[in-house]
Order: sequence, then structure tokens, then C-alpha cells
Amino acid sequence: MGGTAPWGRVVLCGRVAADEAGNEVVNAGDCLYAPHILRSVCHVRTRAVVSSCTSDHAVILSVHGDAYLYGRNAEAQCGVPVTSTSDAASLWLYDARRLDKEHDFVPPIAPGVSIHTGATGAMHTLLVTTQGELYAAGSNEFGQCGLGTLATCVPFQLVPMTERVVDVACGRAASVVVTESGAVYTMGSSEDGMLGTCAASWHHTGPSDVTYDLARHPVRIPNLGGIVRVTCGERHVAALDRDGYMYVWGHASLARLGCGTQIDQPFPVRIPQFVRKNKQDRIRDVVAGTTCTMCVDNQERLWIAGTWRLKDDGGPDQSFLIYKPLAELADYDVHEMAAGADTMQCLVKPTDEHGNTHMQAWGWGEGAWHAELGSSGGTTAPVPTMLHILEPLKVVAVASGRHTSYWLVQPDSVYAELPRYPATIESSSVCMVCRRSGDDDDATLLECDRCENPYHLSCLTPPLAAVPEGEWLCVECRKDSGHNDDGNDHEGANHPIMDQQHER
Ligand SMILES: [Zn+2]
Ligand SMILES: [Zn+2]
Repeated sequence: MGGTAPWGRVVLCGRVAADEAGNEVVNAGDCLYAPHILRSVCHVRTRAVVSSCTSDHAVILSVHGDAYLYGRNAEAQCGVPVTSTSDAASLWLYDARRLDKEHDFVPPIAPGVSIHTGATGAMHTLLVTTQGELYAAGSNEFGQCGLGTLATCVPFQLVPMTERVVDVACGRAASVVVTESGAVYTMGSSEDGMLGTCAASWHHTGPSDVTYDLARHPVRIPNLGGIVRVTCGERHVAALDRDGYMYVWGHASLARLGCGTQIDQPFPVRIPQFVRKNKQDRIRDVVAGTTCTMCVDNQERLWIAGTWRLKDDGGPDQSFLIYKPLAELADYDVHEMAAGADTMQCLVKPTDEHGNTHMQAWGWGEGAWHAELGSSGGTTAPVPTMLHILEPLKVVAVASGRHTSYWLVQPDSVYAELPRYPATIESSSVCMVCRRSGDDDDATLLECDRCENPYHLSCLTPPLAAVPEGEWLCVECRKDSGHNDDGNDHEGANHPIMDQQHER
């Protein structure tokens, strides 16, 4: 870690509100139809957003090693206790919340240690520290947090592991953990063969009820090593080893595993088509969607298997049994991928020679009814399409939740003009320093882009001569990030924005 990783501010589209029990009802007010700045973290230099095709919540990772949790919390998956099932604010964190390393973790995270990565499932969250410690929060109903018979983990609890953890992934009811040595551990429900250690096994608990056998503590998958990365769909897992070979296991219907069969695979299967002599033809990254799996090879070509649209090529009657390229992306280098419940996304490097160097955001999906692709319901993309609404923005990273899309955007004057979510918040009508209104003496009041509290230009320390261009954050909001160098990057909009400080 450390170095000069690009960072951005969090911009999102799609579903942003809870509906009872997370069902599929769409209310107009529950979706954002165009990219919005997530106001609560508009002061955070963000290096990654972590979410998945089963998650209505996300982990926002700052360049300083902090984690912010946003979204659905009905099962305490954001690490916050649910105070009442009728309390909307505890069922869904509308404002992203920074985890306190002392109070939000048991045992506390030691000073100097920060959050390295994480994963989100439907009802739980895993976080990995820079020391390789694994923490879990949310529902442990199926043992998916690996914490024995504890029903709900809140706040985040340490999951005992014998080795340092380097990567994690969460399905609906199971979790996958990769350790430093490349071993893979799983925990949770054996349904669909997600554990990779046994076929789905169950017993009847009633005339029509079955209960799947559970692994309530992490169990190692035998005969699988050298793994560096894992990803979960709702009901399947894909893993990548250090040589670029790819493995899949779990539910296989709709050809989502891409291993040439639709028979469930309870043990890891290596994908034969990427067992290639030339490392360039092997795999660099992999992302699992609900009913598909996408990967990128070392030549930046995207491949997809399974079912990723409603009809025609890639639809349920013409699922891709093996990994195939998509014609629309044939001319592009694919940098990063993400998969929501019904949408796929990627960032591509433009191949044109017009000096256009920033990445383009692409997306596709025929069921993007929650505006995941930034358009009103019904306007969806059956095949990969450039998302024109993001074209003027400098996108550096992409992530997908179940029905929400996230992008990291370098702040510039175009970014600063984006709408904010929530649109308005309660704020002061008088200057925060002298407590007088702007009308009193005609002096200009400058509003903070995050909290909307006003400040006279002359009341600031140091005072400003003119309203600054681009985003502006007050001292309180900068303080809230825990790092005073955050915010107010309007002066940096013309050069590549890199994190120059706080290297570990
Ligand atoms: Zn004032
Ligand atoms: Zn503020």
C-alpha cells in the first residue's frame, strides 16, 4: 500500500433508499437518475468503494485508511445496532458513517493500523486491516461472519484466523477469505456448494422446510493454493491464483460459472480455457455478478460467461457456457469491472489518439430499472455502451451494489456542479463565525459544499478575497474527515490528483 494511488470523490446513481424488507418495489424518490455527489463523504479522499451484486450497502475506503459505511443496515451490516425496526435512519444509513477504530471494533484496531480492504454481502460486511486482521459485522445467521453461534455481530468483531488475511468476498449467506499464503477459507451456508469443501447438504426442519448445513467458523478448502483474489456472486464464487489461473465453484445454472456445464460445482474447478502457456492470455482480475462472471486477461481484454441479458446472445436461452469477449468492447483496454444485480460496468482506456487520457465509464444491463446506469427506468442497455452522462467527469474507479452504481471522480469544475445527495440539509442562515447574515453588510457568504453552513469570505482564516472555484469545504467538515489536508482541492483540479501524504 501507499505510494501514489489515484483517488476521487464518491458519485452515485441508482437506488438510494430502503423499501420495506429490501423488496423490489421502486418508488420514484428512491432512485437517483443522474450522477450525484454523496454529500456525507464529499470531503473524503476515497481510494475505493466496495460493494457487490447482493449488497444494498457499501464500504468507502479513504486514502488515509479509514472506512465509511453507507446504505442498508437492517441487519446491522454497517456495524451500527438497529435501534428499532421502524426507525428508518437505523435501517438505512443515508449518511455514510466513519468507523471509529476504537469504538466500532472489538477488540479495537491498534493505532497506526488501518482498513486495507473489505467485502459486502446481502446482510454482512467483512473488513481486513493492514495487519491482516479480519473483522465482521451484520447477520451471522448462517455463520457467514465466521463467529460461531453469535446471531448478529455489532459492532465489528474480530474473526480468529491463524494467518494474515489479504482478500475477502461475501455472497448472500457465505464468505470467502484468502490468506497471505494463498490458502482459501470459507464460512456460512453450504447451500449451492458455496463453501467449496462439500456439496450442499441439508436436513428437514419441517414438512416443507430444509436447513442447510453451516460452517460457523472458517474452514480451509483443501487442494487450493496460491490464490490472491476472490469474488462472490449471489450463489457462486470465482478465485484467481498468482499465476493468472481462474477457479470457480458453487451454483452453475444459467452457466454462471463459465466452466462449460450447468451442473453445480461443490469444489473449485479450474477454467480450462485460461490454462494458457502465454501469461498474456491468462487472467488479471475477475468479478462475479448474479448470473454471470466477468474477467480481464493480461492484455486487458474482457471476457464474460453465464447469463447477462434477458434474451438473444447472453440471454437465458443462449447463455455463454464458456467465457467469450463482447464485440462492443473489442477495441478497448478494460481497466476495471463491477457487477450489480442486473447491471455490469467497466472502465475502459480510450484508444483514440486525441489526447483523451481519462477513463470512460461503460455499462450494460437490461434490467436497470433502478437507474443503475444513470437513466430513467426503462432506458437500459442490452450491450456494453459508454455512459455519456459520465463522459465529462474524470472517473478513476467504479463499483456496483445490488441496485446502486458508484464511481470515484477527480474533483474539478464539472464535478463541483453535480447535484448532491441528499439535495438539501439543515444548515445555519448566519455566518458560522460572526453569526451575522449576509444581508447585514452586503458581504458575500460562502456555503460549504458538504454541510451548507455559510461563512463570510472575510471571516475565514485566512480570509478569502473571492469565492473559490470548484468545491469548497469548511474547517469543521475538513476536521470531520480526521485529516486536515482533505478538501478544498479546487486549486488542484488541473493536475493529476495523487495522494502525496500519509504514506505508510
Ligand atoms: Zn461572518
Ligand atoms: Zn462544512
